[in-house]
Amino acid sequence: MSVTKPSYHLLKKWILPTLVVAVLPIAETALAATEEVVVYSSRKEHLVKPLFDSFQKETGIMVKYQTGKAGPLIERIKQEGEQTPADMLITVDAGNLWYAGSQGIFANIKSAELSKAVPSQYRDSDGLWHGLSVRARTIVYSTERVKPENLTTYADLADPKWKGRLCLRTSKKIYNKSLVASMIHHYGEAETEKTIRGWVSNLAVKPFAKDSHLIKAIDSGACDVGIVNTYYFGRAESKNPKIPVAIFWPDQNGNGVHVNISGAGITKHAPNRENATKLLTWLVGPESQKILGGLNKEYPINGGSSVDPQVAAWGHFKADTMNLAETGKKQASAVKLMQRARYK
Ligand code: FE
Repeated sequence: MSVTKPSYHLLKKWILPTLVVAVLPIAETALAATEEVVVYSSRKEHLVKPLFDSFQKETGIMVKYQTGKAGPLIERIKQEGEQTPADMLITVDAGNLWYAGSQGIFANIKSAELSKAVPSQYRDSDGLWHGLSVRARTIVYSTERVKPENLTTYADLADPKWKGRLCLRTSKKIYNKSLVASMIHHYGEAETEKTIRGWVSNLAVKPFAKDSHLIKAIDSGACDVGIVNTYYFGRAESKNPKIPVAIFWPDQNGNGVHVNISGAGITKHAPNRENATKLLTWLVGPESQKILGGLNKEYPINGGSSVDPQVAAWGHFKADTMNLAETGKKQASAVKLMQRARYK
């Protein structure tokens, strides 16, 4: 022991610092040569990787990413605090983005370029988050059992004529929380609650875990109408172009179709804020928008960008122009309202 102790001491005192000194300049050079940006994404890998690959090819900035569920990723950024390796969070639904912003994990990022590319209703007014793509949450119906002339509004799905014919996804999904929040915004709590109670009493079967299950249920005859995000219909239609289900655009004489976004925020403690800002700006630019639209059958964030041909074939519609931050602010009221109405 007495022999090894001094030699360890020697190692600690002299050899290790020498090694560190010798290694440091190399590490610094390597860092300087590799520009990077780190993204936490609740969007699945196949929906973000092609974008990151393109960005990397164009700018030489390496994109490292981790995928996971929105809630845990937001928690993780909170826990990591100043030590977070994450420069950016990508997630879906303004409800999630608003929540992340309310937890203080995002930095205020504003630029003329971002403001020009992203319409004001699709971004936080303080620049905490910006939309990257748009999706509509709309009505789908059986082309075999429903005449589209009999469809009008979301609220009309509460009419007794749809008794035993309506399918819904679970109220626990953020998409429905945001939809109901938008209804509260337009019509107030009392009227919205009446509608939701009507929906519940018209249900053909209990709410589904996924929009894709709902589309299958209409296809198989379990119900006749429902509400889904457009890209789920896009996927079903890609698999079976003759699927006897079609999209209907509701509320065209009123507030328009409820639209929502996928989006991103740059973290408050981003180690690579400059590169993250470059990535965010690139993501709302024309090249990325084209890739993004094709990947998940969504609409571009910027009306000026081209729409995927399959998506364009669903036709034009009037979209709700309400500021999506409101769907976040009214999220808690929406959840309580759906519980009162026994929408599971
Ligand atoms: Fe989705």
